[in-house]
Amino acid sequence: MTKIYLDNAATTPLSNEVIDAMIETMKINFGNPSSTHSFGQEAKILIENVRRQVADYLHVSPAEIIFTSCGTESNNMIIKSCVEHLGVERIISSPLEHKCVSESILDMKSRKGVEVAYIRPNEKGDIDLSKLEDLLKSSDKKTLVSLMHANNEIGNLIDLKKVAEICKENNALFHSDTVQTMAHMTLDFSDIPVDFASCSAHKFHGPKGIGFAFIRKASGLKGIITGGPQERSLRAGTENVAGIAGLGKALELSLKNMEEYSSHMQNIKKYTVERLSEQIPGVKFNGRSSELNNSLYTVVSVLLPFKNPLIGLQLDMKGIAVSQGSACSSGASKPSMVMMMVLSEEEMDHCTPLRVSFSHLTTKNEIDALVDALKEISKDFVIENTNVEHR
Ligand code: PLP
Repeated sequence: MTKIYLDNAATTPLSNEVIDAMIETMKINFGNPSSTHSFGQEAKILIENVRRQVADYLHVSPAEIIFTSCGTESNNMIIKSCVEHLGVERIISSPLEHKCVSESILDMKSRKGVEVAYIRPNEKGDIDLSKLEDLLKSSDKKTLVSLMHANNEIGNLIDLKKVAEICKENNALFHSDTVQTMAHMTLDFSDIPVDFASCSAHKFHGPKGIGFAFIRKASGLKGIITGGPQERSLRAGTENVAGIAGLGKALELSLKNMEEYSSHMQNIKKYTVERLSEQIPGVKFNGRSSELNNSLYTVVSVLLPFKNPLIGLQLDMKGIAVSQGSACSSGASKPSMVMMMVLSEEEMDHCTPLRVSFSHLTTKNEIDALVDALKEISKDFVIENTNVEHR
């Protein structure tokens, strides 16, 4: 059975060049970067070269890039340190955030008594920025705003620059979970006054277990993992040198091919929306995910017009990997918070959400196979829900 991978928002396959770069690093640069001898110093130089490469991509200083183990760690570190070390007393966020953000916020609420305000998105998954402004103006408490750049389930994007400017005008700190957009889009942080951002290499054909946090210079942020001077004492622990080499190679390939890859995925996304609309009567798309300009080109969030909680399993048995929500909530019986925000109760009762996510390797033939499989599966269901009103 040919296997088809359409779950690239969960993780992406490693590029061969990335694997080669990592193997070479493991063989040659095995020294501990903290050692003063040449073995250690060669590993240290490799790390600093990748840090410079990341900094150039974001138009920031290398000192503002801290390597971590993943997006989850970066987001935890930023949110928790903002409260514990920068005196943040209030956090404004939205119910659309990834759990590593929302649970860090809840942890700060329960352990540190931080006040939390959520901006409820509309049924398209958009955040009303006038509500953000109103909330910011309503209190003098030191505030952190945490809003993700692109949503991992429905692909909605926020206007990062506009949000950052609103935060600056109102003296608030701004953190954005940029895990789904780093290396997929050009990001110029010399122009966008964001204070903190996060990245995870496995979302752009790099390895798992490596990411970084962008921490604006002089912010005063501190680490939550202590016990060593690595990463300017912001993240103690011997560095994942091979992972950093892999991140660097993956970033290099993404930036070199960004135009080609993004236009390929835009085409695939358009094709997916068209084919599903033609072949599955009553199909709908969640959030802004069917819009080419207003959403992440890697993600389409589909709403099938019948209830089938086993759809992910059935597609998997046909060799097709997709996600029912995000990877983290796909095994759960409860619908994700994002789906609860963008679907009506009727839709939740009668329809099935499915996330299809692409990479530059995705082909139209694979999309055809997905559409055929969905048509086949949908034959067993009475499509009685074409009249269910989409929010
Ligand atoms: N934030 C978003 C938006 C994500 O999609 C993910 C991964 O699914 C994460 C954070 C967590 O990243 P990591 O898997 O590197 O911990």
